[in-house]
Amino acid sequence: MRLVLLGLPGAGKGTQAKRIAEKYHLTAISTGEMLREAAKEKDTFGLRVQEYMNKGELVPDEWINSLVKSRLQEKDVENGFVLDGYPRTLQQAKVLEAYLQSQNQNLDAIFFLDVSQDTLRHRLAQRGNLRSKEKQGNSQIEAKREKIRLDDKPKVIENRLHINKELMESLIHFYKEQNLLYVINGEGDFDNVFDNINEGLLSVNK
Ligand code: ADP
Repeated sequence: MRLVLLGLPGAGKGTQAKRIAEKYHLTAISTGEMLREAAKEKDTFGLRVQEYMNKGELVPDEWINSLVKSRLQEKDVENGFVLDGYPRTLQQAKVLEAYLQSQNQNLDAIFFLDVSQDTLRHRLAQRGNLRSKEKQGNSQIEAKREKIRLDDKPKVIENRLHINKELMESLIHFYKEQNLLYVINGEGDFDNVFDNINEGLLSVNK
């Protein structure tokens, strides 16, 4: 299976992608994680990536397209994948489609995790709060360290939501036209949402 998870920042794509990958033996590919790894290198490319992420802006399509294309050529992707965070623009969606076609492959389903703006703001702000508490030296927060991200600051959150909202609408339209889109209620807790996705997957396999 080749799947895509769509959702605005805070929709829970990362968590669900990992669960789906585990249950269905697919490889989860998160472009956010790939870019955070690239940024850690602190080379010219990494530093530029970090600048975009700090502002909550998207990195240029060409960069992410070539990163994803080379990732899709790796061995562990042969049995299928679940993409999280990509495509994020119509241009990316078209490049992905053309690439898969060139390999005689196609996407099986797109799951859009539908979550209200209020819930998204709340979830992202909570992640951001953890970060500032940790700075004050609260050791209980330590365990959650890896979940804490520099782009979960109020101003950057607003920018990420704003930039992604319109783009998301065009992606939804694009995949709806292809009859690939499944809208998943993403409001509940993570187990609920996973159940909703699994239900959707049952009809994909028919
Ligand atoms: P979120 O969806 O919560 O913003 P991600 O971890 O998916 O978080 O992405 C973090 C950042 O990485 C984004 O704000 C953006 O700068 C960059 N990024 C991730 N995926 C893409 C993509 N497909 N195209 C362009 N930029 C991306």
